[in-house]
Amino acid sequence: MRIHLCGVRGSTPAPGAEFLRYGGHTSSVAISHAGAATPALVLDAGTGLRRVTSLLGGGPFTGTILLTHLHWDHVHGLPFFRGGDRDDARVTLLLPAQESGESAAAALARGMSPPHFPIGPGGLRGDWTFASLSPGPLKAEGFTVEAREVPHKGGRTFGYRVSDGHSVVTYIPDHCPTALGPGPDGLGEYHPAALDLAAGTDLLIHDAFLFAPEVPAEAAFGHAAAEYAAGLGARAGARRVALAHHKPDRTDDELEEMARSFAPRGPAAPQLPPGLGSPGLPGTPEIFVAAEGGILEL
Ligand SMILES: [Zn+2]
Ligand SMILES: [Zn+2]
Repeated sequence: MRIHLCGVRGSTPAPGAEFLRYGGHTSSVAISHAGAATPALVLDAGTGLRRVTSLLGGGPFTGTILLTHLHWDHVHGLPFFRGGDRDDARVTLLLPAQESGESAAAALARGMSPPHFPIGPGGLRGDWTFASLSPGPLKAEGFTVEAREVPHKGGRTFGYRVSDGHSVVTYIPDHCPTALGPGPDGLGEYHPAALDLAAGTDLLIHDAFLFAPEVPAEAAFGHAAAEYAAGLGARAGARRVALAHHKPDRTDDELEEMARSFAPRGPAAPQLPPGLGSPGLPGTPEIFVAAEGGILEL
């Protein structure tokens, strides 16, 4: 499969000269089947969703969008998704079932409807279906997906494991593992849902909003440290770890520094053969800082 990193920023977009190299769009990842011309599955609908339109060759989007949760940085691209907001589009949008029992469309409309925004979800052109998702397996656009709940802050949040039968990508952009305890290194628990989602994965795209020294003061806002993402990748036997969901004020220079801090375990380090990683056994994943516009072939 082919992974397009369309938005790797967290919380709010980050325009400006000091953010050009890693990009300012918020969370969105598009996935294409091997050999397919266009993506069929999109993870999250932050402002990076606008970039997905340019991957469609002028055609409409026909596929599924999976939301990890409903925070602004994961939904604000929806009404600006030109490839999905046209009469010939067909879009299935799935989001975590709300604890209140509220329908998917109603939950979405609380943040996207007048007076907050000119239209509600029903105002999008094309054939849109909104539905709720419970943890567990599902099939979407020829992919097998596993949804698991992960701790975050302020609303039910899922991580996803997506397989095309050959490769696996794991997506956990918003994750607060310290909510379950300090864990072995003070960065949060390496808990079963996270380990299961990332077990032996080819690519783990994970929350790296914080640096470890920021965890004591800032983890309560709901995020993980880059060092936790690396630790999870190693424990789960991931082949590669993409540090993502960057803090909005983290400049290119600071993200380059983050990349350098993981350099000893970077591309020059020995790689685990695919599938040989095991949960609980430290591995040597390649760790890199996700940049908007990045394309990864798995
Ligand atoms: Zn977020
Ligand atoms: Zn969030």
